[in-house]
Amino acid sequence: MKKELMMVLLLAAAGSMWAQSGPLKLRPDAFAPKEETVDAKAVTMASTVEEMASWDRYPTYETYVAMMQRWAQQYPDICTLDTIGTSVQGRLILAAHIEGNRTADLYRPQFFYSSTIHGDEVTGYVMMLRLIDTLLGSYGTSQSLTNLVDETAIYINPLANPDGTYHRGNATVQGSVRYNANNVDLNRNYPDPFGTTKAALQQENEAMIDYFTAHNFKLSANLHGGSEVMNYPWDCFTSLQNPHPQAEWWQEVCHRFVDTARVYDNSHFRDVYQADNGVIAGGDWYVIHGGRQDYVNYYHNCLEVTMEISTVKTLSSDQLPAYWHFLAPSFINYIAEIHNLPDGVGISDLQPPTSDLQVYPNPATDRVTVVGTATDAVVSVYDVGGRCLKESAGPVVHLGDLPAGVYTLCAGGRSAKIIKK
Ligand SMILES: [Zn+2]
Repeated sequence: MKKELMMVLLLAAAGSMWAQSGPLKLRPDAFAPKEETVDAKAVTMASTVEEMASWDRYPTYETYVAMMQRWAQQYPDICTLDTIGTSVQGRLILAAHIEGNRTADLYRPQFFYSSTIHGDEVTGYVMMLRLIDTLLGSYGTSQSLTNLVDETAIYINPLANPDGTYHRGNATVQGSVRYNANNVDLNRNYPDPFGTTKAALQQENEAMIDYFTAHNFKLSANLHGGSEVMNYPWDCFTSLQNPHPQAEWWQEVCHRFVDTARVYDNSHFRDVYQADNGVIAGGDWYVIHGGRQDYVNYYHNCLEVTMEISTVKTLSSDQLPAYWHFLAPSFINYIAEIHNLPDGVGISDLQPPTSDLQVYPNPATDRVTVVGTATDAVVSVYDVGGRCLKESAGPVVHLGDLPAGVYTLCAGGRSAKIIKK
């Protein structure tokens, strides 16, 4: 408790100190300690499905699996249980597939929610379980939720990193950690639009990539904690470097999410002061590489947003119902946004990068070296608008005279995208 408070004060002080010297990159993720996070104050576990009835506990791993299985058994017409894959330690990565009126052969757009890729950010875990329960339990009684389930193929993965969440064993989320069992941050481990170097692709992410490939998700969200902000793509660029083609649409959708939540509790989504009323382009907050959001937007033409939903990563379990109360309408409305996507979605014109030319380092500051070309090969540097800025002979290309941004290097018919810092 004391340590947490000190951290907050420290960050606040740092904020005022750096405020004059450009945008402050104050993403709590960046300050995550390698060791286990501080234990939450009051974590009560449910070791049976029945003990989850009032939604003020975290489930044990076995309870979680039992809940997911029970829903599929209880609502066989509208809920099936998908196994996305398994974790390093063999825990299940599950998704509830909720879709009504399945005998009618209708096109339904596919929506995906996923939470807790960072194992200690567990608020979203319980929120997604409760969302599944609400959608299923309201089917046939609430007209609006019945329509939503009939018209949408909804997939919900409450727990993307079970090994991190159950770091101390299946019986508790106390002592949960950000990383998977190989100590890898799964939200820095996805293929990046620029193929930035990273740890070997982890099996949790490999499974998720297969799941995305097997589906045709059009809208999705990845839930985190540690802050309260709607963080829309891109994460690997600032909005000045490369705004998302649907940036305006993102701002509208994200503002609707936050504004609706604030109707129920006006105190939330206020801790990231650089954000515009709880909404920010990811890279304007803090640039990261290998995040799932960029991967999904870039490679799957699916609009994915990062929802940071609680300033405390491992929320005291007795606070979970209050979070549900102010977030649930926004969660449901966000699913419905899939029926009002912008025309053409707008990102299909982005081609996957041709990373056949090897360049290092990337990102770079003053120079890069091109690997595997003739020593006298001409290397051309293009900006994002396709203008040739310079040509140089030989493997070393000087970048010191170029502004920070994204460039394409071409040599011998091959190319690579690079980031100049
Ligand atoms: Zn996170």
